[in-house]
Amino acid sequence: MYLIGVDVGATNIRVALANEKGRFLAKITEKTVRKGSGIELTNQIADMVKRVIRETDVSMEDVKGIGIGTIGPLDLKRGVIVNPANLPFNEVPLRDPLEKEFNKPVYILNDAAAGVVGEQLYGVGKGVKNLVYVTISTGIGAGVFVDGNLLVGKDGNAHEVGHMVVDIEGRMVCGCGKRGHWEAYTSGTGIPKYAIFLIDKFPRKDVEDSLLYKLTGGDWEKLTAKMVYDAAKRGDEVALQIVEEVGRINAIGLANIVNVYDPSLIVLGGSVVLNNVELVLKPVKKYIGDYVVNRLPRIEVTRLGGDVGLYGAIGAVLLEMRLEPVE
Ligand SMILES: [Zn+2]
Repeated sequence: MYLIGVDVGATNIRVALANEKGRFLAKITEKTVRKGSGIELTNQIADMVKRVIRETDVSMEDVKGIGIGTIGPLDLKRGVIVNPANLPFNEVPLRDPLEKEFNKPVYILNDAAAGVVGEQLYGVGKGVKNLVYVTISTGIGAGVFVDGNLLVGKDGNAHEVGHMVVDIEGRMVCGCGKRGHWEAYTSGTGIPKYAIFLIDKFPRKDVEDSLLYKLTGGDWEKLTAKMVYDAAKRGDEVALQIVEEVGRINAIGLANIVNVYDPSLIVLGGSVVLNNVELVLKPVKKYIGDYVVNRLPRIEVTRLGGDVGLYGAIGAVLLEMRLEPVE
């Protein structure tokens, strides 16, 4: 039995053909189309599915279904993406045109939900019934299993945790326009903005002596999350203080998740985590105890790397079919 997984991001689309054990036979990546209407994106996915099939000796007849983990927001009843924040389309029809084209069932999850499915079937969360996957990347999102049930929500948009309030003073404004949201502080796009806000409070001399000043030439518009973590890795005091504050906000966000869902394991993924494992984990473990009421879960980093969403997409096909993956 074979499964097709599709990972739809604002930057890249990735398609994989895998067997039910989660072994990829072929995997291709393309830049996400950004022009025309949403159907252009659907057509791109269809072309990539055909290509991934051609790259193997598997016949479409032996493929049981197509799973899609995608950026949202979703309207799962209609199987479409509605007004995605980072793509210039009003609507991207996924399920109906792809089911018609391939005559296979198409299962759709938001990308963070796909992440937790990937972890539960193939990752460090294998078999864990109360499991949360949190991705910290351009934004912040989560996928959640409670008592073995994947939480999906009425439209497929459950746990937009990046927009939980973590700062009652609302010092930073989120990309969504509201104040105090988690991803405004510690996502890849939030970190440089929050860092600039913090730097403004530091003694001027310390700032001018800092590696961050050298890296940006004092032009803070050039600051990136990578610069902050790279400077911290080299022991820069200002960067280390920023990383500590970022970690404290992450601890607050994760503590909210622990208090709401009571997981036994939280798996962290996303580029900000994967590139800076120690600097993300250490402050989280230091501060989370200040905010949790429930018993602390284990906190680990994904071992599926950037493929976690693809694993979840193929896992979505398995889950809908009520099959267990075979080890
Ligand atoms: Zn927000």
